[in-house]
Amino acid sequence: MAKFKRILLKLSGESLMGEQRYGIDEKRLAEYAEQIKEVHDMGVQIGIVIGGGNIFRGLSGAGKGFDRVKGDQMGMCATVINSLGLSSALGAIGVKSRVLTAIRMEPIGEFYSKWKAIECMEAGEVVIMSAGTGNPYFTTDTGSSLRGIEIEADVMLKGTRVDGVYTADPEKDPTATKFSEITYDEIYHKGLKVMDLTATTMCKENHLPIYVFNMDVYGNLKKVMEGENIGTLVHN
Ligand code: UDP
Repeated sequence: MAKFKRILLKLSGESLMGEQRYGIDEKRLAEYAEQIKEVHDMGVQIGIVIGGGNIFRGLSGAGKGFDRVKGDQMGMCATVINSLGLSSALGAIGVKSRVLTAIRMEPIGEFYSKWKAIECMEAGEVVIMSAGTGNPYFTTDTGSSLRGIEIEADVMLKGTRVDGVYTADPEKDPTATKFSEITYDEIYHKGLKVMDLTATTMCKENHLPIYVFNMDVYGNLKKVMEGENIGTLVHN
């Protein structure tokens, strides 16, 4: 039995680069698709939001002279590219998926609505919700918080390249220790960076728990769904 009935899986665009410095690593993409198939086969309803940091980020673009709003729109387009890539990788292994977009761009994807997303998930399709929130000055973490709340997911699974939330950055501080669970208030008080504050606050105020885990280790997504505590649970 899967631990959760309906999940919002947030994947970072940056992780899609694999060993590369830019773009999409087909091997990493295929591994993600296989992991998603494993939990889809368990009967889990899956909504996905992918970032675009492997291609373009509005904020870093602004530092190089790009207009911030156009840069953010470029970032949102980057999430659509990643979403199409994932949908294609899922299709290649027999998993039906649908790309919805927060900005109208038919026929690339259908325009997002909560009801369409839920209808597709209930029919067994994986739903990939792209283009973030559709607005500049937001991130895909906020986009996934919003979509997770809208589709009434039981949890947001934040797949990253670290295996949870630590007392300090484990890549910089060797004494850092991992939390098995932590509350939103502790996140604020300790100044820990799990997601940006807009995204964190949305989850807290709407009672959506987040589970942070390392998605780059093959099989971890299934372990989370089987109830193994390999990451950190953030809750109210
Ligand atoms: N973005 C945006 N609005 C949104 C979501 C994303 O403008 O609602 C843009 C923003 O420029 C962001 C980029 O898309 O930098 C890519 O998303 P993000 O940085 O969250 O990707 P990740 O870090 O997860 O790869």
